[in-house]
Amino acid sequence: MNFEPYFPPKMLTLISTYQCTAACPNCCFQCNPQRTERLTIEEMESIVEYCAKKFPSIELVVITGGEPFTLGSDLYAIIKKISSFGKMSRIVSNAYWASSYSKAVDIIQKLQDCGLTEINYSTGDEHQKFVQYDNIINAIQAALDNNMAVAVNVESALNKDFKSDILYKDTKLSKYLKDKEKYPIFRINNGKWIEKQSTVNEKGNFSYTTSIDSTCTSILTNICISPDMQYLSCCGFFNIKNKYLNYGFVTANNLETIHKKQFDDILKLWLYLEGPLKIAQSINRYAKKELIKIENKHMCEVCNLILSNEQFIDMIKSNISKELPRLILKYDICRRIENNSKYLAYEKGK
Ligand code: SF4
Ligand code: SF4
Repeated sequence: MNFEPYFPPKMLTLISTYQCTAACPNCCFQCNPQRTERLTIEEMESIVEYCAKKFPSIELVVITGGEPFTLGSDLYAIIKKISSFGKMSRIVSNAYWASSYSKAVDIIQKLQDCGLTEINYSTGDEHQKFVQYDNIINAIQAALDNNMAVAVNVESALNKDFKSDILYKDTKLSKYLKDKEKYPIFRINNGKWIEKQSTVNEKGNFSYTTSIDSTCTSILTNICISPDMQYLSCCGFFNIKNKYLNYGFVTANNLETIHKKQFDDILKLWLYLEGPLKIAQSINRYAKKELIKIENKHMCEVCNLILSNEQFIDMIKSNISKELPRLILKYDICRRIENNSKYLAYEKGK
């Protein structure tokens, strides 16, 4: 029997706007209150509708930015639309709107009525110059008290003062952290945070060692659309700037073609199958010296180092035949597993 040569996507991410109430110096998209780029409600609705119909495999639609709450009533409208297709939805926010617990409850309940299933908050040293810590606490409590899934991403780099421990030790959060049965959906993550080179400690940027075996879980499985309707291969930090990850303007006519086209590219498959750290190791092996240092670097940093360097890409091209047998075998197994539901349906229908 034939399996599709590509994996069906699992997630749709709409970078709904570059406008933000904050202006964190190391924001990966350089968002701030002055920026005006955003997806219109018509654009967001048409992408959601198209993807829901074309890719039933998509389970979750993420609305991120910038700050999605600057979309005003359009944010509630797009959550309703996502829910009308039976999909889960997640908003990623800095919680500027949660200036009091009661305000936060009001907003969370309205979003819940529209069908929102999960909310993520970002905080840390840079965020807290613009949004107070108390807002994050109000926003967490409001969501958890209404049984909504919550994840908090804390800026994590070597030189940070605010650490996730502060949240773990906050007495206002202890009941949620202790009672895993009642609040199973509360996560605190040491999140991705990459600083500009000028502020990077020479030891490296990321304080949490990325395992050499970490693979990229975004490329090929996540359809990501920017506020100017660019199709991005992943939701990583360098997706806008890196031409290798940016497929240009997307329409209903080319979205499916772009998604499938990515599977013709062995480097994208390699990122998915083995991750950028393993690719960097291979480059170092080809060169017989450490051209790329991976210690204390975030996976996306290493990825960007590789994808934006012509010399590394040429080295990969010259040596890819050594990697191909292993990668093709892994890819074949993966695409069979990823398409497994289709296979099971076929078996059942026989
Ligand atoms: S809150 Fe998030 S989107 Fe806004 S400027 Fe900071 S990092 Fe960027
Ligand atoms: S590892 Fe590379 S492809 Fe994957 S999310 Fe990061 S930048 Fe994107």
